[in-house]
Amino acid sequence: MAKNSYKICLLPGDGIGPEIIVEAVKVLDTIGGLYDTDFFYTEALLGGIAIDATGTALPAETLEIAKGSDAVLLAAVGGPKWDTTDPTKPRPEQGLLGIRKELGLYANLRPVKIFGALKDSSSLKSENVEGVDMVIVRELTGGLYFGKRDRMYDVPGAGIDGAAGMRAYDTLEYSEYEIERIVRHAFEAARGRRRKVHSVDKANVLESSRLWREIAHRVAADYPDVEIIDQLVDNTAMQLVRWPAQFDVIVTENMFGDILSDEASMLTGSLGMLASASLGDGTALYEPSHGSAPDIASLGIANPIAQILSVELMLRYSFGMDEAADALAKAVEDVLDEGWRTKDIADASTLPQKTVGTTAMGDLIVEKLKA
Ligand code: NAD
Repeated sequence: MAKNSYKICLLPGDGIGPEIIVEAVKVLDTIGGLYDTDFFYTEALLGGIAIDATGTALPAETLEIAKGSDAVLLAAVGGPKWDTTDPTKPRPEQGLLGIRKELGLYANLRPVKIFGALKDSSSLKSENVEGVDMVIVRELTGGLYFGKRDRMYDVPGAGIDGAAGMRAYDTLEYSEYEIERIVRHAFEAARGRRRKVHSVDKANVLESSRLWREIAHRVAADYPDVEIIDQLVDNTAMQLVRWPAQFDVIVTENMFGDILSDEASMLTGSLGMLASASLGDGTALYEPSHGSAPDIASLGIANPIAQILSVELMLRYSFGMDEAADALAKAVEDVLDEGWRTKDIADASTLPQKTVGTTAMGDLIVEKLKA
């Protein structure tokens, strides 16, 4: 049988990005050797580094390379060097939003799982996070973040004390097809898990949510083996800290998903542990949930695990290499069980000799994979 081969576009970006993506490549090379697969990499510019080199956060060449690849592995973009409120200046996040839009990545999957060895790092009491293992499926290209918006000046009565002033609006719009395809992703994901979908909306107030709920139930009819639970977003925000283990798959619109997934990320104790997959109809993109951590860039202490776990998602969703993905997840778990920690996940019980830097953590995971 011919050897499988995949083209991967690497986007190291800014800050700690280049340091952590190297560890992910090390892991991919190891997996390639173990599972008889070739991975070919092409590195491209995105974010601040792209602004410096080309004047734009998403150069056309980067987009071309990404579109011609089987998957994209992104680290993170941004940093104080490029922070600006001047709307005429390019910003690193434009690269991020731009590539998601251009690749048609409408579904963001963010797994939130408690590693047994890290349950004391959670911001909740360890007994409250026992068994947490969920996936948040967030709609990524619609809703408030992409709707019609404007700011108006000199609007009569909009200022202080009845004077003329400024007024702004954003609009939350969803079409039937946008809801249908994202909810279907959630139900498909639930089939490979515990078969429970919480469809989160604000149907008691918003018309777009009432449409969401109607379509969600229409899709649910095709999945009689999966339970659907409607939940209002304010209740979900509360349930995530009250009893997070109740959730298997949560599906929701863009802004609700943005907020809920950041809330859920705190359950695990460190942003350095969370990966995400952005899927559409073409090339998918995988990235850690954290930013470019400019405060620790170049110190060699960044946690590479979220980046490495985004490789796990890539193996699963883009290459159908479930066995390799399971082996990688287990390798990470075993390294943590043995007490190895990067600084961000170390605590008072961590042995000083088991507190390691970025490269050593990558090496430990590679060694476990080979064992
Ligand atoms: P951040 O996630 O970069 O950092 C928050 C805190 O977590 C920092 O103290 C950082 O040191 C720590 N941290 C993050 N990742 C870590 C890791 N892998 N290992 C150890 N510690 C880690 O968020 P921020 O400070 O709000 O943003 C910094 C920059 O990143 C900004 O320019 C922001 O716009 C950008 N950002 C980018 C993305 C992305 O590329 N997807 C996401 C969020 C923020």
